[in-house]
Amino acid sequence: MNAVQKIFQMYGSQYMALYGDRMPKSHKKTIRDIIKCRNGAFGTMVYECRECRNLHFVHCCCGNRHCPNCQQSKADQWLNQQMKKLLPTHYFLLTITLPQDLRDVVRSHQRESYGALFACTNEALKKLAQDKRFVGSDQIGYLAALHTWGGMLQYHPHLHLVIPGGALSDHNEQWLSSRQDLFVHTKPLEIIFKAKFKGAMKKAGLLHKIDPAVWKQQWVIDSQAVGQGQNSLRYLSRYVFRVAISNNRIKSIENGVIKFLYKDRKRKKWKVMALDAMEFIRRFLQHVLPKGFMKIRHYGFLNPNCALSIEKIRELISFIHDIVALFTQIREPEMPGIKYSHCGHDLKFVFFAKPEARSRPG
Ligand SMILES: [Zn+2]
Ligand SMILES: [Zn+2]
Repeated sequence: MNAVQKIFQMYGSQYMALYGDRMPKSHKKTIRDIIKCRNGAFGTMVYECRECRNLHFVHCCCGNRHCPNCQQSKADQWLNQQMKKLLPTHYFLLTITLPQDLRDVVRSHQRESYGALFACTNEALKKLAQDKRFVGSDQIGYLAALHTWGGMLQYHPHLHLVIPGGALSDHNEQWLSSRQDLFVHTKPLEIIFKAKFKGAMKKAGLLHKIDPAVWKQQWVIDSQAVGQGQNSLRYLSRYVFRVAISNNRIKSIENGVIKFLYKDRKRKKWKVMALDAMEFIRRFLQHVLPKGFMKIRHYGFLNPNCALSIEKIRELISFIHDIVALFTQIREPEMPGIKYSHCGHDLKFVFFAKPEARSRPG
């Protein structure tokens, strides 16, 4: 069931009527896209059954990155890309959360604040990795993904980092492994990151809008050693490549009330939350990112611009660990040929039908 789409189809126009005059364009576009995803508004692919000659129509999706329908197919492709970059070493998941008292400013200045979150994390992490107690080089590499939501769809901006446990030496000659249990200590990381973030806010001219008490608080940084291998990378990648809510968490849509599952982190249990449809949509739209803002970024040796190939890095890691990295062949997921659901025969692409011109008079 495309539950999120159904919610927008049922209540989206009511929301627009109430708040349309105050909404950013990107929110309106997201509502319109999700409502029309796969209904023909984005064109239709026409196929013909090779045996029966019946025609089969597949409506195109909206492609909006906040649309849960569209995100699912992208997630699989993306995951496959990540698996190709798997390194024969241990991995960490590091999560940096912006404190509650900062969130109003962040929400009103998303581009600057999210940008600073990525940049300051990178600077702080490199600085600490260079320390001999940890890795001894700042030539680290990792994947960072911005999430702006908590389990109840509330505004809760945080950054997840998937980090291979080590770094390249100065002239890329050697792999320097980190400890197995931690990449860097989170306490100094928190102090350095906070100072850098404060500097970035000052530079952006936002410092006076922030309650100074926030700089004295302890910010939440969580580090987990997640072991090595395809399964941990697959798990982590799947974890970070998400949208605010997936269709399968929505349990019911009735009488203007949306019920969905969320995880009670303290009790480690799934619970049901009921929200008024307008409030559900408001919460959902908080997570629409500024236009063109990249929410997933690859740093250092995982960046496609890195001079050293993944194969070369694998070689260096294998050398230092005195092992031959045995790679179980990572299979490309098979793209099943499209079959006609009625007869089970293969389909042949015939043509792309452009969307129909809308609202003809009369
Ligand atoms: Zn879509
Ligand atoms: Zn998250």
